[in-house]
Amino acid sequence: MRANEKQQPRPAPFDPEHLYTSRPFVLRDPAQKRTIADSPARTIEDKAADDGTEPEKLIVCRQCRNVITRPEERIEIQGAHQHTFANPQGIVFEIGCFGFAQGCGFVGPLTDEFTWFKGYSWRVAVCGACITHLGWLFHSPGGDSFCGLILDRLRQPQ
Ligand SMILES: [Zn+2]
Repeated sequence: MRANEKQQPRPAPFDPEHLYTSRPFVLRDPAQKRTIADSPARTIEDKAADDGTEPEKLIVCRQCRNVITRPEERIEIQGAHQHTFANPQGIVFEIGCFGFAQGCGFVGPLTDEFTWFKGYSWRVAVCGACITHLGWLFHSPGGDSFCGLILDRLRQPQ
């Protein structure tokens, strides 16, 4: 068998799951890259060693187990922690709202196009370690912000 018989699927021009819009997913400036670089990969074990937190009490990236946030950060926005939304491509996301997500990096410009939460602009949120798209950072002009994270991309304590 020749090596080229196993063809890789051709990459799509963009991955619609990565975005609300069809804008390409690009790290535009060094400051944005630094945001990610400054969020070192933190495994459950690292985190537990630091502060004695029981590993099973942390919320981690399902892909790489980087610590993303913790159950205490769950918050309600517009009356609920969990929301189901579809993006303009029709992809449905179940997200949970978190006040803070230490393990995320944020990329792309802040925009209010197609926002799911009235009064909030958003940026894409990725795992700071493996760059998997985990959700969005929502930001209000008043300075409030929270993360809406895609629940099936996280591993949460039972
Ligand atoms: Zn990850």
